[in-house]
Amino acid sequence: MNAQVLISGGGIGGLALAQGLTRHGFDVRLFERNLTGGNAGYRLHMNADGGNALQALLPPDLYQLYQHTSRADPRREQFLMLDEQLRTLGARPHIGPPNVGALRHTAVHRWTLRQILSAGLSNVIEAATVTGYEERGDRVAVLLEDGSTAEGDLLVAADGVNSPIRRQMLPQIRTMDTGLRAIYGRSPLTDDIAQTLQGQLFDGFVVIFSRLLLDNGVLALGAFQPRMPYQEATARFAPQVELSPIEPYMMLGASVPRVVTDRLGIDLDTAAQSDLRRAMRAQVEGWHPDVVGLVERAPESDMFVTAMRYLEPIPPWPSGRVTLLGDAIHAMPPSLGAGANLALRDAALLAERLAEAPDSGPALVRAVAAYEQQMRDYDYPILRKAITREGAASGFTPLGLIRLARLVGPVNLARKALEDRRASFATSPRPVEESGAQP
Ligand SMILES: Cc1cc2nc3c(=O)[nH]c(=O)nc-3n(C[C@H](O)[C@H](O)[C@H](O)COP(=O)(O)OP(=O)(O)OC[C@H]3O[C@@H](n4cnc5c(N)ncnc54)[C@H](O)[C@@H]3O)c2cc1C
Repeated sequence: MNAQVLISGGGIGGLALAQGLTRHGFDVRLFERNLTGGNAGYRLHMNADGGNALQALLPPDLYQLYQHTSRADPRREQFLMLDEQLRTLGARPHIGPPNVGALRHTAVHRWTLRQILSAGLSNVIEAATVTGYEERGDRVAVLLEDGSTAEGDLLVAADGVNSPIRRQMLPQIRTMDTGLRAIYGRSPLTDDIAQTLQGQLFDGFVVIFSRLLLDNGVLALGAFQPRMPYQEATARFAPQVELSPIEPYMMLGASVPRVVTDRLGIDLDTAAQSDLRRAMRAQVEGWHPDVVGLVERAPESDMFVTAMRYLEPIPPWPSGRVTLLGDAIHAMPPSLGAGANLALRDAALLAERLAEAPDSGPALVRAVAAYEQQMRDYDYPILRKAITREGAASGFTPLGLIRLARLVGPVNLARKALEDRRASFATSPRPVEESGAQP
């Protein structure tokens, strides 16, 4: 008999794993505390790590729906760096394996992807908050907030950066707070608006560097215009799926420098949405009118703040009947657009290893050990890259470097280069427990 697998968390990684395991005939129960969705991000940049994993995990109809509701192909699928007047400073390919084929992986709306990943899983997904687990010989039980438990052969923690399973299993992993905060919002992209905007704003993923760069002043932009209207895509590929309608938008992600928020008297950890909008507006003062317009049109009701946190990598641990994937084991700042892609890749890798040892005997733990080794080998180097400035923003052209030096001031740049040898971030990362921030 195939093993019974319990999954804590129905985000991107947990749902994708549930899809793959049910296709392989496993008996799966997934516990999710928030079935109606949160505000955590609009647009997810996709690369071939995540896209190939979706192809392996999803039934063909749902995979086609993902492809056709993804962002329409930009003229350049690149990470583009611009100055505040939209002159090019540099460009580099996105990370991940080659992204090829007629329908390349571009970007998805997060909630749409979650709706696609949930399709057909109504008998698998349960509304419940997980608090911990108990090992019971060859079995494992997940503990739920209402006092009940559920038993299985394997428990997978896919419950994000604050995973209660990880805190119990690997308490030595520290959650680090970089001190950086990013404000996210979205600006409407009707055809009329899109026509007035500079073409380079529609390249793969755009980061604008400001003269306050050294205090972490950057604004990230990512357009989302689906390849096909949602209704047409569901009717054609998966009529059983209902997708919430989404109007095209430009995602805005602003790392507003401390000098700006201090001047405005705003504490980003407690700021109201009206203050988030005020901070974003102040950041782009004097920038190219296209960017100012995008910020002006972004409704404050859509704005939220994200703390840039990550989990410290640790040496290998003994494998057993509890394992982890995605942010629960390698949460990282979103600077490389990699976290969701890696959660999907983990899910595909774990489903593949488990499918090779489908029953509940000792081969199951060997399959988990093989997965964990491969997951660490691939994901930890990307996590390390995401937490260094050099990893997140390499790829300037020589002309771009001259423009950047003019923008920021050559002396400041030289000073910063020296400082960067010593620290990864302008503010040194601190364990969340010591930083006074909410865990
Ligand atoms: C603003 C922003 C932009 C981003 N952009 C990108 C991008 O462009 N590309 C990219 O690849 N990545 C991006 N990321 C990172 C990406 O969102 C995460 O890496 C990804 O969501 C991780 O997936 P996951 O399934 O591991 O965790 P999550 O998506 O966080 O899912 C965890 C799930 O577990 C549930 N849960 C938590 N605790 C419990 C509990 N106790 N009991 C039951 N359920 C629980 C949560 O409700 C949630 O549904 C971005 C992140 C942010 C914040």
